[in-house]
Amino acid sequence: MLEFEFRTGRVRIDLAKCKECSTLACVKACSLYGRGILRVKGGLPALAVPEDEARRLCIECLACEVQCHLHGNHGASIELPMPEG
Ligand code: SF4
Ligand code: SF4
Repeated sequence: MLEFEFRTGRVRIDLAKCKECSTLACVKACSLYGRGILRVKGGLPALAVPEDEARRLCIECLACEVQCHLHGNHGASIELPMPEG
């Protein structure tokens, strides 16, 4: 599992599912719409920057999750805790 936090939530990427994915749509999405936080390493998505940088850089665009679900193998999910109250 590849996981990192951003300011209001967390990105979780299930690398077991990524092994069955040929598109790496999450990496392309982050490069096109996000901040290039993800890269390909050994055929799987990986962080392109240190974890604290990722937390700062991620703009919470959700593109990695959306494109993964459209074109990938449902490995990426973004957790956004519901505000209390
Ligand atoms: S698009 Fe989804 S399934 Fe494919 S490598 Fe990225 S996170 Fe994994
Ligand atoms: S939410 Fe956007 S910036 Fe953050 S990792 Fe996903 S694609 Fe990249």
